[in-house]
Amino acid sequence: MSSLQNKIAIVLGASKGIGLGIAQIFAAKGAKVIIASRDNDSLEKAKKYIFQKTALQVDTFLADITDEESIKNLIEFTMNKFGRIDILAQNAGIFPSTPLFEMTPQDWDLVLDTNLKGTFLSVAACIPIMRKQNYGRIVVTSSITGVRTGNPGLAHYAASKAGINGFIKTAAIELAPYNITINSVEPGNILTESLNTLGSDYIKAQERAIPLGCLGTPEDIGYAAAYLASDEARYVTGQSIVVDGGQTLPESHYDIPHRQ
Ligand code: NAP
Repeated sequence: MSSLQNKIAIVLGASKGIGLGIAQIFAAKGAKVIIASRDNDSLEKAKKYIFQKTALQVDTFLADITDEESIKNLIEFTMNKFGRIDILAQNAGIFPSTPLFEMTPQDWDLVLDTNLKGTFLSVAACIPIMRKQNYGRIVVTSSITGVRTGNPGLAHYAASKAGINGFIKTAAIELAPYNITINSVEPGNILTESLNTLGSDYIKAQERAIPLGCLGTPEDIGYAAAYLASDEARYVTGQSIVVDGGQTLPESHYDIPHRQ
C-alpha cells in the first residue's frame, strides 16, 4: 500500500517542470491528481506524459493562481468530482530576471502576486474544506533563493519565497487544531525547461557549485513533496525541506571536492 493511496490531490502549476514531477510522483503513489495551470495545451501534454510514465489518468483544470475566482472554480470542480481535498501542492511560480536598478513596481507586483499572494489565495480557498474534513496536507514549493541565498536579478522572487516560508510558520499554528499541516520544499537548481533557458554556462557553473555534482530533477522534488503530503508526515508542520544536492552547504567553492 502506498501512503498516498486514494488521496485527492490538487497540484497547482503542474503543466511542466517541478509541478509535473510532483504530480507524477503523487499519481504513482496512488493519489487521484488534478493538475492545474493556465494553458490547456501544456496541461494535455502533461496529462499524456504522466500516463506514459505511470499508466494512470489525471484530471486537468485551467486555473490562474492570481485570480481568486479561478481558484474557487478549481476547488468547486474538485469537490464536485471527488467530494474532498486531501492535498494541495502549490507549486505555481515565476522567476523573471530583472536587475534591481531596472525593476519596476509592475515587475515586483507580478512576481509577488503570483508566487506569494497566489499561495495565500490557494491555501485560503482550501481551508474551509480541510477544516470540515479535519484533515489536510499543504505543500508549497519555495526555493533556496531568498531563504538561504541571494541571486542577482531575483530580488522580487527572493522576497516572494522568503515570504512563503514566513507565511507557512504562522499558518501551521492556525491550522494545527484541524489536523491540517503546511510545509514547504526548497528546491536548489532543478533542471526544468524554464531553468534550461538560462543557458549552458549557467548550468555548468551551478553544477560546479553543487557537492552532489549535478542539477536535480523534478521527481527529486516530487519525492520530498510526497513525504510532506503523506500520513507519515502527520507530526511535521511549518517546516521546510531543502532539496539542493548540498548546494547551500559549502562556505566557499574551495570546499567542494572534485568528483572522481
Ligand atoms: P516552470 O517549468 O516554468 O513551471 C511553472 C508552472 O507554474 C507551470 O506549470 C506554469 O504553467 C505554472 N504557472 C505559472 N504562473 C501561473 C499562474 N499565474 N497560475 C497558474 N499556474 C501558473 O517552472 P519550474 O522551474 O518547474 O518551477 C516551479 C516552481 O518551483 C516555482 O514556484 C519556482 O519558483 C520553484 N523553483 C524552481 C527551481 C528550479 O531550479 N527550477 C528552483 C527553486 C524553486 P502555465 O504557464 O501554463 O500557467
